[in-house]
Amino acid sequence: MSKQLAFALILLLSLIPLALTTVRLARCFRMTQGRYRISEHFRRLVIMGRVAIAQSRIFRRPVTGLFHALVFWGFCIILFGTVEMTIDGLSGRHGSLSGLGFIRTLFIASADIFAVLVSISIIFFLVRRLFHRIKRFEGIEMKHNSHIDANIALGLILILMISLNGMNVFHVLQQDENGMAGMLALYPFSARFAIHAGLQQAASPACYEFFWWLHILLILLFANILPYSKHFHVFMSVPNVYLSRLEPLGKLSHMDSITREVNLMLNPETVAGQDMSTPSRFGVKDVEDISWKNYLDSLACTECGRCTSVCPASITGKMLSPRKILMDVRARMKERAPGLLTGREKAPGDHFLLRNFISEEELWACTTCNACARECPVNINHPTLIVDMRRYLVLEEGAAPGGIKTMFACIENNGAPWQFSNEDRMLWAQGLEINTN
Ligand code: SF4
Ligand code: SF4
Repeated sequence: MSKQLAFALILLLSLIPLALTTVRLARCFRMTQGRYRISEHFRRLVIMGRVAIAQSRIFRRPVTGLFHALVFWGFCIILFGTVEMTIDGLSGRHGSLSGLGFIRTLFIASADIFAVLVSISIIFFLVRRLFHRIKRFEGIEMKHNSHIDANIALGLILILMISLNGMNVFHVLQQDENGMAGMLALYPFSARFAIHAGLQQAASPACYEFFWWLHILLILLFANILPYSKHFHVFMSVPNVYLSRLEPLGKLSHMDSITREVNLMLNPETVAGQDMSTPSRFGVKDVEDISWKNYLDSLACTECGRCTSVCPASITGKMLSPRKILMDVRARMKERAPGLLTGREKAPGDHFLLRNFISEEELWACTTCNACARECPVNINHPTLIVDMRRYLVLEEGAAPGGIKTMFACIENNGAPWQFSNEDRMLWAQGLEINTN
């Protein structure tokens, strides 16, 4: 009973900060704009199955892809055992979900094997991060803290896996000979390890309790740390892929407010009854102007750097790094949200996402080639945000690079981006036997 009470108390204490974090995140989302619409749910499920569950983009780099996929699949399977442990802790029983029969056996046995595979994968990632210079993990946005954050999370996952196998091993040791056959099926790795490792049966109850508590406490700690770490993508990547942009990557979306203005001039009947008030802002200047999907993208970013490694602007030495754009959104929201949410914010003054985090030079370096969006393993779409920030610069500040301003003036005056009058367009054909009328 005392174990149940202690567990219930610890669970409650860990759920309170988690609930507060969830509320804070929900309020951050509420600060953003709702201009991203969701439809075609079946198509989204197919994309989610292919990209998020089958990890298709991750496998473009087969070796690291396999290790990453093992960690992700292991996480999904081990979740079942975590739910059972929580019920066990509250009910004081062991194997609370035994009523599920074969399904439980399948999950628990898979989790026992996956714990080993995930441990191997994590050791691979740690060795790679600590002892090899991986170019895509570098960049001005990758501060010392980013690397520490990644290594701490990897270390925690490794201890989680070791404690899971440890718990299973000492649970197996508590069985008599009659129960061993069942244990071999339920814990394929741990039962064999327990049989061959020569561990003391007498010590198993205390060791089992140690690993049980270590595992569950680490899970509760991990759940509270994750929302403040890049490893939050563990939770956010699947919904983010489900909510992917479905339009062709190269298609630029219209701005509703501009479309309404144009329709008002050309086809007034099509906008009858629509809200024609002037929007408070055109494009994106700060985090309250971004769409909720932009913010979700920033939370789902794994900081893997695949986008930056294929970005032609980044490769050719320009300032732009698409990963930095996402990390800047997350950092600015973290900085801005407390003041906005509590209503105690002084005027933002001259501190914004644009310029203080993301410079004009970065924005105009983008060729909108969409290589970043094509490569991102969690279907983040960087160019939409970059284009929205450029829209702010052009529509509200007229702050475009000189060459683009000239092009705008030509379109306005000549109906074409070139510096020639419309009437001169066919001069090249004079003297040729071409009917230009
Ligand atoms: S769309 Fe822009 S940010 Fe993305 S890869 Fe191309 S140039 Fe880089
Ligand atoms: S945006 Fe995508 S590809 Fe780029 S670092 Fe984040 S997760 Fe990786």
